[in-house]
Amino acid sequence: MRIDVLTLFPEMCEGVFGASILGKAREKGLVSLNTVNFREYATNKHNTVDDYPYGGGGGMVLKPDPIFGAVEDVIQKASVEHTEQKEESDTRTPRRPRVILMCPQGETFSQSKAEELSQEDHLIFICGHYEGYDERIREFLVTDELSIGDYVLTGGELPAMVVVDSVVRLLPGVLGNESSAITDSFSTGLLEYPHYTRPAEFRDMKVPDVLLSGHHANVEAWRREQSLRRTIERRPDLLDKVELSDKDRAILQRLKSNNSK
Ligand code: SAM
Repeated sequence: MRIDVLTLFPEMCEGVFGASILGKAREKGLVSLNTVNFREYATNKHNTVDDYPYGGGGGMVLKPDPIFGAVEDVIQKASVEHTEQKEESDTRTPRRPRVILMCPQGETFSQSKAEELSQEDHLIFICGHYEGYDERIREFLVTDELSIGDYVLTGGELPAMVVVDSVVRLLPGVLGNESSAITDSFSTGLLEYPHYTRPAEFRDMKVPDVLLSGHHANVEAWRREQSLRRTIERRPDLLDKVELSDKDRAILQRLKSNNSK
């Protein structure tokens, strides 16, 4: 996968791209992570990328030309790179890039959106600043608008890093233990069960016996019940969307009646 982040502050992204699991994924060539300063695509002599809003009012608005120019250039470069690097046997036409605008008015980001984006070949993120963007960027350039929650940050870099991190960790080979992404909270539709590690007893606090039993079926049953318990206690709204077995429903019924006693 190739990811390009269009930003006025590339240094905000480079630390994230170079460290920990993303850094290793990049080193191993599992993902290409790039920043593009769209100021370089400004078309005026002072390299300004923002201007006063038509109609008046406070705040500056990001101009369309540098952002259209940067997106078009990145798409062109990615296409040339793909043609140069592809094996002769690879006849697949790459999918059109997803151009993602980070904005508080967008669709709220979720694990299922991360899973959807992890199937793509090329993601381009646009990080805003100031009051907002010229509306033509939203209307004619982007394929997706994403928000990371109902609050407002000063710029789109931190939100873009949140999305990039959650997408890259889903790419094949990025996490050491592939199963850990599959059982994560939200991936299963439920919150994840609790984890314990050595020592088995710490300051009189004991690890549940079942986890020390070596009995895999009992461990799985315990984990499923804990997942259901956590979800009903903390995020009961998730239970409306998840597929439940008869056994799950019986467990939930028991948990509910225990709670009401
Ligand atoms: N005036 C805008 C509004 O009311 O929707 C807020 C602009 S905000 C100060 C500047 C930039 O930060 C946005 O263009 C966006 O890129 C980013 N941003 C802020 N909060 C965000 C959020 N919750 N999710 C995604 N991006 C956000």
